[in-house]
Amino acid sequence: MRIHTIEERLHALGAKDCHIQRILRAWVRAQPLDAGPRAAEHALPLAVRKDLPALADTLQALTTLRSQHPGEDGSARLLVGLNDGQTVESVLLPRDGLCVSTQVGCAVGCVFCMTGRDGLIRQVGSAEIVAQVVLARQQRHVKKVVFMGMGEPVHNLDNVLQAIDVLGSLGDIGHKNLVFSTVGDYRVFERLPQGRVKPALALSLHTTNAALREKLLPRAPRIDPAELVELAEAYARSTGYPIQYQWTLLEGINDSEEELDAIVRLLKGKYAIMNMIPYNTNEGLEFRRPAPERAAEIARSLHRRGILTKLRNSAGQDIDGGCGQLRARESLGKIRVLQRGAPIQDQSEHSKV
Ligand code: SF4
Repeated sequence: MRIHTIEERLHALGAKDCHIQRILRAWVRAQPLDAGPRAAEHALPLAVRKDLPALADTLQALTTLRSQHPGEDGSARLLVGLNDGQTVESVLLPRDGLCVSTQVGCAVGCVFCMTGRDGLIRQVGSAEIVAQVVLARQQRHVKKVVFMGMGEPVHNLDNVLQAIDVLGSLGDIGHKNLVFSTVGDYRVFERLPQGRVKPALALSLHTTNAALREKLLPRAPRIDPAELVELAEAYARSTGYPIQYQWTLLEGINDSEEELDAIVRLLKGKYAIMNMIPYNTNEGLEFRRPAPERAAEIARSLHRRGILTKLRNSAGQDIDGGCGQLRARESLGKIRVLQRGAPIQDQSEHSKV
């Protein structure tokens, strides 16, 4: 479902724009839909008030918590059911963050990603994206939303930008705390600067070598990494927030000294943070993560050479290629699905999160 559908429903009942904004504001903050000022001049039209319980049921049914899998660092992966029976993953992140999914499946087909194996199954509507935030807020505070779950946000751009607009204008989330994550596409650099809410940008680079990048991200747009960095740099300078480059560290593939030299040439002096994310082992995929000492040495070496680098744990904030595992495991019958209204934690999946 799209947010426009909710707006049209309310318009048809006589709601003005201010009424619709008030109802959407209450919803995205996980408050009762009639929350807001009580004075007569703020009253909702009678037909709208009568419809609120039914609308609340419709919105509540957009997302259902099917299972929850806590990590050691305070994160927790959520398997979220959509109302047609499809599932996506959201991740509660440490420090009030949330990672949401924008598509069921993904067409980019990154070779190290479980989500990419399914191909694209369907788009996630803007209301379903916001509903992932509402579901998380029913459990705890959310002050940051990263669009790094299942899917490539560019391939569902209208829905994602509408969700960003609502979250940044009505949802009490700072614009730089909305993080649009992409493999890179010209449409990103055309559309993001036009929005009234301009999110921060995370760019999944993974290698500086164009030919290797084609192999790792087979259906990503063919844009040379150097050009991508130039486009991203212009966006970073215009918004005032740095680009977060994402690099899934794959042993023997993109962890060589030549790659590190090329990263330094590409990013030195840029307004950027390099997030090195050791690959999260996926059942059925043959890639390996480098040894912890090697990963730490890579991050130290880049730092020494002037590249602001963070070594991330994929169970935490920067889950990138690891998504899609819960969905895959549920389809294999390896996850016990929870009854609606009974969200408990399934510790058996803890070590794999
Ligand atoms: S890593 Fe992201 S872009 Fe690549 S296939 Fe997986 S979900 Fe899609």
